[in-house]
Amino acid sequence: MSGTQTKIAIIGGGIAGSTTALLLAHAGMRVTLFEAKQSLVSGPPFCHLHAGGNLYPDISDEQCLILLEQSIDFARLYPNGVDHRPTIIALPKACSKNTQHLLPRLEKLRGRYAELIAQDPKNRVLGDPETYFRLYERETIERIAKEPFETKPHTPEAWLVPFAKEVDLDTIQFPVIMVQEYGLNLFRIGARLMLSLQQHPNVSLKLSAAVKRVSRQGNMWQIGTDIEQSKTETFDYLINAAGYQTGKIDDMVGLSCERMVEFKAAYVTRWERESEHLWPEIIFHGERGTPRGMGQFTPYPGGHFQLHGMTKAITLYEEGLVANTPQSCQPQLPQTLLEKIEHDWQWSETVERTQNAITHLARFIPSFASADVASKPLFGAQQIPGNDPSLRVAEVAFPTSCYARCEIVKVSSVIDMAEAILDDLAKEKLYTATMPMQTLLEQIPPVEEETVTSQAETLCLERDYPTELAHLCVPKV
Ligand SMILES: Cc1cc2nc3c(=O)[nH]c(=O)nc-3n(C[C@H](O)[C@H](O)[C@H](O)COP(=O)(O)OP(=O)(O)OC[C@H]3O[C@@H](n4cnc5c(N)ncnc54)[C@H](O)[C@@H]3O)c2cc1C
Repeated sequence: MSGTQTKIAIIGGGIAGSTTALLLAHAGMRVTLFEAKQSLVSGPPFCHLHAGGNLYPDISDEQCLILLEQSIDFARLYPNGVDHRPTIIALPKACSKNTQHLLPRLEKLRGRYAELIAQDPKNRVLGDPETYFRLYERETIERIAKEPFETKPHTPEAWLVPFAKEVDLDTIQFPVIMVQEYGLNLFRIGARLMLSLQQHPNVSLKLSAAVKRVSRQGNMWQIGTDIEQSKTETFDYLINAAGYQTGKIDDMVGLSCERMVEFKAAYVTRWERESEHLWPEIIFHGERGTPRGMGQFTPYPGGHFQLHGMTKAITLYEEGLVANTPQSCQPQLPQTLLEKIEHDWQWSETVERTQNAITHLARFIPSFASADVASKPLFGAQQIPGNDPSLRVAEVAFPTSCYARCEIVKVSSVIDMAEAILDDLAKEKLYTATMPMQTLLEQIPPVEEETVTSQAETLCLERDYPTELAHLCVPKV
């Protein structure tokens, strides 16, 4: 079968299911995408591309190099969603490591990035490989602090101006690192996928359609949803992309597995006095789960900043990381966390946790203490396959025939994940590859910036977030 007759069911329209739908539909398959919510990419948030894994000093170099390659592919597929502002990595004085620990890995990443560009010049999506990262000593930062702000920073030094002016330089080690790790905008990527999948002739997009029944009759999968009680559709191949709920689908299929689920939240703030200035992202490293856990300061336009603090009073939660049991593939989060996912947040808790996050970052940026709560947090639960909570790279598993279980931990893994699914479809004789993955990716038509922006604003409004979050700090030209 070339693929044109193959009927695919995808359960879950997060980044994993929606990207798979886009690629398989372009490869010629007939795809039905079932999503329980009313729009796509509405699950756990993402704000950072992780093009090199520099936020995670404790993971292996191998995982970082994979994240680099996967991020380059991701940035090529979703250019509307990449925010080209750099990231500054600062190690607090209290940190047991120093910058020198990070340099060998950064050199490896720079070398690999240069090789990838030599293989294909279109891989040059993170700027010049020579300047993938730069180091700045205190004297330079003090000199930059005297420079005026630039409305549109066009040099690395111009990006450093707000950092140099506002960060308490006595709290951090030197040199600091500037790395070409960019932001990701989930509203824009969700918008792009909504626009592409709604129009695609090979895609049947079923929104507000929660899958309630999965069974197998001979070689065919039968799927029933809550909106079409009596109707059951049949498919050749089933893709379980249900995110933190993949275990529920595995249970319907009768599989066994080992996995964890983690609930986390990031806080949305507004810093009135900085509404005119463009900031880089800033990472203040720290030991996860301790009161000094990593602080992440992610800029959006109009003085909006998204904050992470890797402590249990901010991003992480008591009992927020749970594993499944031998009786079920679905790990059980405490009811209080499920309430947040399925219903909403208490405003008092939003204020308390956001204020904790502001205080956490104000240890390094004292003037940031004047920031306010801007909206409810960006939050959600994600799955982590296996039993290692520090895993950052995972793609997909094929635990039974004609069945794929998407298991991404970082969003950039989706293209390798979809490629593995295409290989499995070929193995099952449901698809004959007619072109390499890279050619397939290049054939996907882009969507106009303005259309994406308008749809992304609609998603922000529907989900109760400020519409500024639909925009990039560095608009695409
Ligand atoms: C606070 C936080 C911050 C994060 N930041 C980053 C980051 O900066 N960068 C990064 O790369 N990653 C980040 N991640 C991880 C990232 O969010 C996830 O890896 C990714 O969103 C998972 O995508 P997914 O498509 O697998 O799952 P999901 O986005 O959860 O999608 C699954 C979809 O399936 C639907 N569904 C479930 N069951 C059914 C059913 N029975 N029928 C129909 N539909 C169903 C759900 O409604 C959902 O829309 C972060 C995670 C969290 C929690």
